[in-house]
Amino acid sequence: MEPRLAALRTGIDLGGTKIELIVLDEAGREIMRRRVPTPQGDYPATLDAIQGLVEKAEAELGVGTSVGFGTPGAISKASGLLKNANSTCLNGQPLSLDLETRLGRPLRIANDADCFALSEATDGAAADAGVVFGVILGTGVGAGIIVNGRPLSGPNAIAGEWGHNPLPWPQDDERPGPACHCGRQGCIETFLSGPGLSRSHFDACGHSLTAVEIVALAEKGDAACEQSLQVYEDRLARALAHVINLLDPDIIVLGGGLSNCQRLYANVPRLWGRYVFSDRVDTQLVPPKFGDSSGVRGAAWLW
Ligand SMILES: [Zn+2]
Repeated sequence: MEPRLAALRTGIDLGGTKIELIVLDEAGREIMRRRVPTPQGDYPATLDAIQGLVEKAEAELGVGTSVGFGTPGAISKASGLLKNANSTCLNGQPLSLDLETRLGRPLRIANDADCFALSEATDGAAADAGVVFGVILGTGVGAGIIVNGRPLSGPNAIAGEWGHNPLPWPQDDERPGPACHCGRQGCIETFLSGPGLSRSHFDACGHSLTAVEIVALAEKGDAACEQSLQVYEDRLARALAHVINLLDPDIIVLGGGLSNCQRLYANVPRLWGRYVFSDRVDTQLVPPKFGDSSGVRGAAWLW
């Protein structure tokens, strides 16, 4: 039985270190935010923590809410079990069903990259765009696809998982590419994640720096860091050109730690024209409006 559409929307973002809750009013304004540490390696304790957050929030507000949930993996449509989560104690668990039972209502669950993309497509940097590709460039690389305001969700629940496609138009020194945790080599994630940029910089010049340090030093004129960022920009342009050829999105929004690197928004669109199969490219590349809050906001917007 479908519940009456609740006026207040709760979003939950389950991360590796924290579980965050947000409540939005009818207009999308944030009226409550809470966070608790994620119980490490303990599935029942994770369920307890989520249930506790929702029940406490609703007791304070004095009203029930709709609950949307962003997970680090995806719920298999065939089995109902979670897969592809980096918090591995969650994989193989009926997360959605268990939470519905505990909270006594239907939930909507989506991948955290889908939630990011949905937030930006609803009232963020890509508000009202028809087709949005929302990319996370963080410790991993993932993406969500929003079409006319709703997440694209296929039979395998993996739409947008282009981080585990091979880096397109590879150069000789990019083949076969670094080993990826998915078991393959040369995935886009191994080049475009924060650790991927860091590793690539180390391979080029022997200096061990984080992605944040590389971006900051390039700004100060460090030649090796500048070179590493130029290589990164060309790889990102190739990876996104692949997406543009396949999906032709109106807007691509970047999220995750590397979305703070402002030069990407000017430099990457200057490069991707070499790879896109079109005489001109009108797709926009933009920074996120809500930054780190997008995942939890998008979870609330699932209803
Ligand atoms: Zn991979």
